[in-house]
Amino acid sequence: MGSVCAKRGSVDLTCCPRENAEEKVKNVSQIKMPTMIRRPPTIVCYICGREYGTKSISIHEPQCLKKWHNENNLLPKELRRPEPKKPEVRTISAKGFYDLDALNEAAWKSAQSQLVPCNICGRTFLPDRLIVHQRSCKPKVAK
Ligand SMILES: [Zn+2]
Ligand SMILES: [Zn+2]
Repeated sequence: MGSVCAKRGSVDLTCCPRENAEEKVKNVSQIKMPTMIRRPPTIVCYICGREYGTKSISIHEPQCLKKWHNENNLLPKELRRPEPKKPEVRTISAKGFYDLDALNEAAWKSAQSQLVPCNICGRTFLPDRLIVHQRSCKPKVAK
């Protein structure tokens, strides 16, 4: 009885677990790494909510803000919105990188807050889209 246990114990401890463990680590890294590395980091524009590469966002943002002002000025007063503010996220992860996810989430929320709900159907639209939409949006007629 005792010898069986010892044999089993020694086999478990020396051979299989280590190999398995290494294989597991390999598998985990093979599964998790590509999705994190292959996808280049993107930054969500806090104005329009679209994703841009880390380099193009700095070009896009001022242009987007300009466009936003142009569009906002064309809107009827009741649809004009306060200028979107760049959300400041100061969560820096342990590695010293900005927490991109938190940053993007804040930017996305900021962009979403730009949307205006249709007073007929309640769906949210960008103000210029809302004007177009409301031309065809008819209140449901209760029969
Ligand atoms: Zn934008
Ligand atoms: Zn509507």
